[in-house]
Amino acid sequence: MIQQTLVIIKPDGVAGGFTDEIIKRYEAVGLKIVKRKDLNPAPLEIVEKHYPMDSDYLKSIGEKTIAAGQAVTSAEDQGRKVVGWLRKFITSGPIVVLVLEGEDGVKLARKTTGFTDPSTAEKGTIRGDLGIDNILDANREGRPVYNLIHASGSAEEAQKEINLWFPELGQ
Ligand code: ATP
Ligand code: MG
Repeated sequence: MIQQTLVIIKPDGVAGGFTDEIIKRYEAVGLKIVKRKDLNPAPLEIVEKHYPMDSDYLKSIGEKTIAAGQAVTSAEDQGRKVVGWLRKFITSGPIVVLVLEGEDGVKLARKTTGFTDPSTAEKGTIRGDLGIDNILDANREGRPVYNLIHASGSAEEAQKEINLWFPELGQ
Protein backbone atom coordinates (compact mmCIF):
# COMPACT_ATOMS: atom_id res chain seq x y z
CA MET A 1 0.00 0.00 0.00
CA ILE A 2 1.26 3.49 -0.88
CA GLN A 3 1.69 5.32 2.39
CA GLN A 4 2.89 8.73 3.54
CA THR A 5 5.26 9.33 6.44
CA LEU A 6 6.89 12.29 8.14
CA VAL A 7 10.63 12.91 8.39
CA ILE A 8 12.36 15.79 10.16
CA ILE A 9 16.00 16.62 9.50
CA LYS A 10 16.95 17.83 12.97
CA PRO A 11 19.24 20.81 13.77
CA ASP A 12 22.35 18.56 13.88
CA GLY A 13 21.47 17.18 10.43
CA VAL A 14 20.90 20.60 8.85
CA ALA A 15 23.85 22.34 10.58
CA GLY A 16 26.11 19.38 9.77
CA GLY A 17 25.39 19.81 6.04
CA PHE A 18 23.62 16.45 5.69
CA THR A 19 20.28 17.64 4.24
CA ASP A 20 20.95 16.71 0.60
CA GLU A 21 22.63 13.39 1.47
CA ILE A 22 19.72 12.40 3.74
CA ILE A 23 17.13 13.25 1.07
CA LYS A 24 19.13 11.27 -1.53
CA ARG A 25 19.14 8.21 0.74
CA TYR A 26 15.33 8.20 1.06
CA GLU A 27 14.92 8.74 -2.68
CA ALA A 28 17.35 5.90 -3.39
CA VAL A 29 15.01 3.40 -1.70
CA GLY A 30 12.02 4.63 -3.72
CA LEU A 31 10.47 7.26 -1.44
CA LYS A 32 9.23 10.46 -3.08
CA ILE A 33 9.22 13.89 -1.40
CA VAL A 34 5.69 15.24 -1.65
CA LYS A 35 6.04 18.17 0.78
CA ARG A 36 8.93 20.13 2.26
CA LYS A 37 8.95 22.88 4.86
CA ASP A 38 12.13 24.62 6.09
CA LEU A 39 11.72 26.19 9.54
CA ASN A 40 14.15 28.31 11.56
CA PRO A 41 13.30 27.60 14.27
CA ALA A 42 10.29 25.30 14.62
CA PRO A 43 7.46 26.68 16.81
CA LEU A 44 7.70 25.26 20.36
CA GLU A 45 3.94 24.57 20.53
CA ILE A 46 4.20 22.20 17.57
CA VAL A 47 7.32 20.50 18.93
CA GLU A 48 5.59 19.98 22.30
CA LYS A 49 2.79 18.10 20.53
CA HIS A 50 5.23 16.20 18.36
CA TYR A 51 7.20 14.99 21.41
CA PRO A 52 4.46 14.68 24.07
CA MET A 53 4.95 13.99 27.78
CA ASP A 54 2.82 10.81 27.61
CA SER A 55 3.61 8.29 30.32
CA ASP A 56 4.16 5.27 28.04
CA TYR A 57 6.26 7.30 25.60
CA LEU A 58 8.40 8.72 28.42
CA LYS A 59 8.95 5.23 29.80
CA SER A 60 10.03 3.90 26.39
CA ILE A 61 12.60 6.70 26.11
CA GLY A 62 13.91 6.13 29.66
CA GLU A 63 14.23 2.41 28.83
CA LYS A 64 16.65 3.34 26.05
CA THR A 65 18.90 5.06 28.62
CA ILE A 66 18.83 1.91 30.76
CA ALA A 67 19.48 -0.34 27.73
CA ALA A 68 22.49 1.83 26.86
CA GLY A 69 23.98 1.05 30.27
CA GLN A 70 23.03 3.90 32.62
CA ALA A 71 21.13 3.01 35.79
CA VAL A 72 18.19 5.34 36.57
CA THR A 73 15.73 5.35 39.46
CA SER A 74 12.69 5.79 37.21
CA ALA A 75 12.48 5.20 33.45
CA GLU A 76 9.56 7.62 33.21
CA ASP A 77 11.40 10.41 35.06
CA GLN A 78 14.47 9.92 32.87
CA GLY A 79 12.24 9.97 29.78
CA ARG A 80 10.72 13.26 30.98
CA LYS A 81 14.19 14.79 31.27
CA VAL A 82 15.17 13.54 27.80
CA VAL A 83 12.00 14.96 26.20
CA GLY A 84 12.71 18.32 27.89
CA TRP A 85 16.23 18.33 26.38
CA LEU A 86 14.85 17.22 23.04
CA ARG A 87 12.22 19.97 22.76
CA LYS A 88 14.86 22.58 23.54
CA PHE A 89 17.24 21.13 20.97
CA ILE A 90 14.69 20.79 18.15
CA THR A 91 13.74 24.47 18.54
CA SER A 92 17.39 25.60 18.70
CA GLY A 93 18.07 25.96 14.96
CA PRO A 94 16.97 25.26 11.38
CA ILE A 95 15.10 22.03 10.60
CA VAL A 96 13.62 20.56 7.42
CA VAL A 97 10.24 18.80 7.62
CA LEU A 98 9.35 16.34 4.83
CA VAL A 99 6.36 14.26 3.85
CA LEU A 100 7.64 11.15 2.05
CA GLU A 101 5.49 8.75 0.08
CA GLY A 102 6.05 5.21 -1.17
CA GLU A 103 5.13 1.54 -0.95
CA ASP A 104 4.96 0.63 2.77
CA GLY A 105 6.35 4.16 3.33
CA VAL A 106 6.37 4.24 7.15
CA LYS A 107 8.37 1.03 7.57
CA LEU A 108 10.62 1.79 4.63
CA ALA A 109 11.57 5.22 6.03
CA ARG A 110 12.21 3.75 9.52
CA LYS A 111 14.39 0.99 8.07
CA THR A 112 16.38 3.53 6.04
CA THR A 113 16.73 5.76 9.13
CA GLY A 114 18.09 3.11 11.54
CA PHE A 115 17.99 2.73 15.34
CA THR A 116 17.81 5.73 17.72
CA ASP A 117 21.40 5.33 18.98
CA PRO A 118 23.86 5.90 16.08
CA SER A 119 26.58 3.90 17.86
CA THR A 120 24.45 0.73 17.61
CA ALA A 121 22.41 1.59 14.49
CA GLU A 122 22.93 -0.86 11.63
CA LYS A 123 25.51 0.05 8.96
CA GLY A 124 23.77 1.00 5.72
CA THR A 125 21.20 3.09 7.61
CA ILE A 126 21.41 6.89 7.73
CA ARG A 127 22.01 7.03 11.48
CA GLY A 128 24.44 4.09 11.35
CA ASP A 129 26.52 5.63 8.54
CA LEU A 130 26.35 9.37 9.25
CA GLY A 131 25.68 9.56 13.00
CA ILE A 132 28.58 9.71 15.45
CA ASP A 133 26.87 10.11 18.84
CA ASN A 134 25.67 7.63 21.51
CA ILE A 135 22.91 7.56 24.15
CA LEU A 136 25.26 7.11 27.09
CA ASP A 137 27.27 10.29 26.43
CA ALA A 138 24.05 12.20 25.71
CA ASN A 139 22.53 11.31 29.11
CA ARG A 140 25.78 12.11 30.93
CA GLU A 141 25.86 15.50 29.22
CA GLY A 142 22.14 16.25 29.72
CA ARG A 143 21.09 16.39 26.06
CA PRO A 144 19.26 14.25 23.50
CA VAL A 145 21.31 11.85 21.44
CA TYR A 146 22.23 13.51 18.14
CA ASN A 147 20.89 11.20 15.44
CA LEU A 148 20.18 13.62 12.57
CA ILE A 149 16.58 12.68 11.78
CA HIS A 150 13.12 11.88 13.06
CA ALA A 151 10.96 9.39 11.15
CA SER A 152 7.38 8.44 12.15
CA GLY A 153 7.24 5.17 14.09
CA SER A 154 3.84 3.89 12.89
CA ALA A 155 1.09 4.68 10.38
CA GLU A 156 -0.97 6.25 13.17
CA GLU A 157 1.96 8.42 14.31
CA ALA A 158 2.61 9.41 10.68
CA GLN A 159 -0.95 10.62 10.12
CA LYS A 160 -0.94 12.57 13.38
CA GLU A 161 2.43 14.17 12.60
CA ILE A 162 1.54 15.08 9.00
CA ASN A 163 -1.59 16.84 10.30
CA LEU A 164 0.46 18.59 12.96
CA TRP A 165 3.25 19.92 10.70
CA PHE A 166 1.14 20.43 7.54
CA PRO A 167 -2.34 21.47 8.77
CA GLU A 168 -2.87 23.17 5.39
CA LEU A 169 -3.05 19.74 3.71
CA GLY A 170 -6.29 19.11 5.64
CA GLN A 171 -5.96 15.30 5.60
P1 ATP B 1 12.50 9.81 16.38
O1 ATP B 1 11.14 9.77 17.06
O2 ATP B 1 13.24 11.12 16.61
O3 ATP B 1 12.45 9.39 14.96
P2 ATP B 1 13.11 7.31 17.58
O4 ATP B 1 11.69 6.92 17.26
O5 ATP B 1 14.22 6.44 17.11
O6 ATP B 1 13.45 8.73 17.04
P3 ATP B 1 12.23 8.04 20.25
O7 ATP B 1 12.24 7.01 21.31
O8 ATP B 1 10.92 8.43 19.66
O9 ATP B 1 13.27 7.55 19.13
O10 ATP B 1 12.98 9.31 20.82
C1 ATP B 1 12.88 10.57 20.20
C2 ATP B 1 14.28 11.20 20.13
O11 ATP B 1 14.74 11.45 21.46
C3 ATP B 1 15.36 10.31 19.53
O12 ATP B 1 15.44 10.42 18.12
C4 ATP B 1 16.62 10.82 20.19
O13 ATP B 1 17.09 11.99 19.56
C5 ATP B 1 16.12 11.18 21.58
N1 ATP B 1 16.26 10.10 22.56
C6 ATP B 1 15.43 9.03 22.72
N2 ATP B 1 15.78 8.29 23.76
C7 ATP B 1 16.86 8.88 24.30
C8 ATP B 1 17.67 8.60 25.44
N3 ATP B 1 17.42 7.56 26.21
N4 ATP B 1 18.68 9.42 25.72
C9 ATP B 1 18.93 10.50 24.95
N5 ATP B 1 18.21 10.83 23.88
C10 ATP B 1 17.18 10.04 23.54
MG1 MG C 1 10.03 8.15 17.81
